[in-house]
Amino acid sequence: MGNHLFDAIRAAATPEAVFIETAEGRRWTYGEMIAFSGRLAAALVGLGVQPGDRVAVQVEKSPEALMLYLACVRAGAVYLPLNTAYTLTELDYFIGDAEPRLVVVDPKSVGGVTAVAEAYGSTVETLDAIGGGSLIHRAGGEEADFADAERGADDLAAILYTSGTTGRSKGAMLTHDNLLSNALTLSEHWRFTSADRLIHALPIFHTHGLFVASNVTLLSGASMILLPKFDADEVLGLMENATVMMGVPTFYVRLVQHAGLTREATAGMRLFVSGSAPLLAETHRSFSEKTGHAILERYGMTETNMNTSNPYDGDRVAGTVGFPLPGVSLRVTEPETGKPLADGETGMIEVKGPNVFKGYWRMPEKTAAEFRTDGFFITGDLGRVDERGYVHIVGRGKDLVISGGYNIYPKEVETEIDGMPGVVESAVIGVPHPDFGEGVTAVVVLKKGAGLDEKAVLDGLKDRLARYKQPKRVLFVEDLPRNTMGKVQKNVLRDTYADLYKA
Ligand code: ATP
Ligand code: MG
Repeated sequence: MGNHLFDAIRAAATPEAVFIETAEGRRWTYGEMIAFSGRLAAALVGLGVQPGDRVAVQVEKSPEALMLYLACVRAGAVYLPLNTAYTLTELDYFIGDAEPRLVVVDPKSVGGVTAVAEAYGSTVETLDAIGGGSLIHRAGGEEADFADAERGADDLAAILYTSGTTGRSKGAMLTHDNLLSNALTLSEHWRFTSADRLIHALPIFHTHGLFVASNVTLLSGASMILLPKFDADEVLGLMENATVMMGVPTFYVRLVQHAGLTREATAGMRLFVSGSAPLLAETHRSFSEKTGHAILERYGMTETNMNTSNPYDGDRVAGTVGFPLPGVSLRVTEPETGKPLADGETGMIEVKGPNVFKGYWRMPEKTAAEFRTDGFFITGDLGRVDERGYVHIVGRGKDLVISGGYNIYPKEVETEIDGMPGVVESAVIGVPHPDFGEGVTAVVVLKKGAGLDEKAVLDGLKDRLARYKQPKRVLFVEDLPRNTMGKVQKNVLRDTYADLYKA
């Protein structure tokens, strides 16, 4: 049987080729990746990790952290990365929910996490810098290659918790084949080759930075420049020696604001990919004006890996997420009944394919509720397919505003407000309202010195939106609340303004 995912990674690897470089010039070849992840895998086994055991990992981004992911795959363990921002209270929930055999943390967190993890019978270890970590010492073995655990296509490779944008994070169970098939599809679709060098400034506890960026690189035998975080200056400087960047919309917003973003600076790059949150059409336009590159937007989620992508050749249409990827079936249905809708109609996006996860960890009822009987997964995202087949994401089902019995799609209102001179961006939410059930409420960020006030925004919308879609109130803020992937946290806004319409 072999090891479904790692066998494919091994097959794509050329030992002398560079896999990872860091900004400080540390390098790892594919040969070193195989040797080191093998040593780590042996160390995991030495610590009692058996196939199927969860290994929870909360460590800063580094080449070693990626090697640990590969070591888990090779040991047959279920890799479970956790956001480095999580506090001990949050970790308590995740460790209690996942019951990992082992929790790997940075040295500074050992004390606190040990106190939490012991209650669940988990062991806590650190992952130290190259070659010298305690895990490696305990393994004893040096260069001998590790015999990978036997894992089939349907065995779990990872549990990834969702970002928690709409509620408590859920553990998505992902199989070896979920990860492998999607990475192979993307690698082909985006024309990755071993000559590619990826600028990787995303966190690696999320599907975007972990699976899309890393697995696509690995399965193409390409290399990546691993950066601890995004910095526009640094990234612009690296573009001369890179070919691809994957980013969240915030990266592109910052690049567009940077004077150094020019045709010359990006001349060596062949592809810019955006995902995880909607890319404003304005950002798409101005990036392309400044560089000649059309950003390629794609759509995915923790539960499904990537579902759609704009085309590599052909129109990359701003404001759309492109077409379903090969092997992925996508349909739009009426949310309540699941009845398929015609093209052009807005409804619930549902997907099916080898990319779709096995279910939510320890949530059989929720899993059952999110799948239709014919196997389609209900994404929770609202959208439509246009006449050319491009998919448009309109927003999340949970963010739909129902006011006076009417459905209002926030994005429609946001697009109008965002188009006003002086507006940076906006978020439209539903807030409890005594007469309407929910009151349409706009939260707006203005450019410095913009002369807009509440009345001006409302006046500007009068002739552009039906009355029931017009906000009852417009509020101004410095910044919208966002999580680490740059997603606007509308639940935070809803909490903040919960009492707005109370007498
Ligand atoms: P939770 O499920 O815990 O509320 P989350 O849905 O934000 O959190 P993720 O799985 O990280 O967790 O994010 C997937 C979601 O991100 C998608 O369902 C979609 O709403 C949004 N998304 C991803 N890519 C895009 C895109 N290109 N355009 C618009 N939305 C996107
Ligand atoms: Mg989600």
